Amino acid sequence: MNEYDSAVIKEMLKENGFVYTNSPDAANIVIVNGCVVREKPEKKEFELLKYYKKRGKFVVSAGCLAQKDKEALLEFSDLVVGPMEYDNLPEIIKRRGVFTDYNKERDKFYEYARKRDEVGFSEYVTIMTGCDNFCTYCVVPFTRGREKSRPPWDIIDEVKGLIAKGTKEITLIGQNVNSYFYEGVDFKDLLQMISKLNVKRIRFTTSHPRDISLAVFDIMAKKDNIMPHIHLPVQTGSNKLLKEMRRGYTREEYIYIVDAARKIIPDIVISADIMVGYPTETEEDFLSTLDLVKRVQFDYAYMFIYSPRKPSIAYYRYKEQLPKEVAVRRHRRLVETVQQIVIKKRKDMIGKTYEVMIDGHAKKNEGLSRGKTRGNITVVVEKHIPEGEFIKVKITHVNGATPIGKPIKT
Ligand code: SAH
Ligand code: SF4
Repeated sequence: MNEYDSAVIKEMLKENGFVYTNSPDAANIVIVNGCVVREKPEKKEFELLKYYKKRGKFVVSAGCLAQKDKEALLEFSDLVVGPMEYDNLPEIIKRRGVFTDYNKERDKFYEYARKRDEVGFSEYVTIMTGCDNFCTYCVVPFTRGREKSRPPWDIIDEVKGLIAKGTKEITLIGQNVNSYFYEGVDFKDLLQMISKLNVKRIRFTTSHPRDISLAVFDIMAKKDNIMPHIHLPVQTGSNKLLKEMRRGYTREEYIYIVDAARKIIPDIVISADIMVGYPTETEEDFLSTLDLVKRVQFDYAYMFIYSPRKPSIAYYRYKEQLPKEVAVRRHRRLVETVQQIVIKKRKDMIGKTYEVMIDGHAKKNEGLSRGKTRGNITVVVEKHIPEGEFIKVKITHVNGATPIGKPIKT
């Protein structure tokens, strides 16, 4: 989400006479578009703000970062601008102060989003902003405001423009894409509309287990350009905690969705976000999470240790936190469990052939390429192939958890 916003901000400012530089040291104005969902990145963002402020730059705090701490941020920045205020950015960028109303429209912002000319083979497109869920641990509803869906024609215009400029993969983004709704058009309708455009690969994130409908899987199964991958954060395998977190589903319901998805789309890749160390998490709750992970056999997962985030519900609700060493130990155990499953799954890829879209070269060897399968698994290809090309790759072996393969002629 922030990546997309940054790309549009860049376009907006360029069109309004500002010159972009990749090197903050050479810039007069430095914009830090920060995420505050977890504590660690937020700390880094504060360091960046202080660093550039000390060096005499005009420093702008943007994104959720701006929305969360508002006035306090003025100590480290000149301008504080929330994500729903970007329409005014070209006018306010040289002013000082706090602009964080989140009931604003984003018409101009999306106009610039459609105008973006520097586009890659793979691009994000925002379909909705905000979130109404108020999961207890989460700051997003406070930083991004109420859920707001973008008109389908506006989304389609942007996607068409990107395709015309060479984009091959579009990822539709929103905090909870499944609750997309605009004048009678729901998420499955939107997916269907986008799939009719000449786009090679369509992805979407994030899905919510409470709101996803099986009809979405039916469409994914029918449309060859909708990729067989779903990112479906589960957070915990404990029903008690799911309820406390206000997630709105049970572990049984989650398993039902996953099983249904695999039945409808046999090669679907399923990934999730999982959290440990919620203040009331017992050893038994944690074991339910491990058990769920083994039952579901995730293809990959992002795993986090809970951190209290002001002004989330949990921040005020729980006076005491779990001892850090307990959370760290659980996190380690969870990572190990997921990793074992992931390695097994990657080894299962050996001997099979996958369509890969090349997105760069391998980290340690420029002669090798790197790309993603339709299911969003990164693989290394033993040949130099230009970015954006599609090739068939036969996996020959696995290095750690990275599948490696050779291109094959079809
Ligand atoms: N809208 C998405 C993701 C939001 S934030 C969803 O509903 O799943 C991305 C992930 O960050 C969450 O899925 C959660 O696992 C993690 N996260 C959010 N708040 C957190 C907190 N306070 N501490 C640790 N992890 C958190
Ligand atoms: Fe946060 Fe829950 Fe909304 Fe996701 S669904 S953004 S976790 S409140």
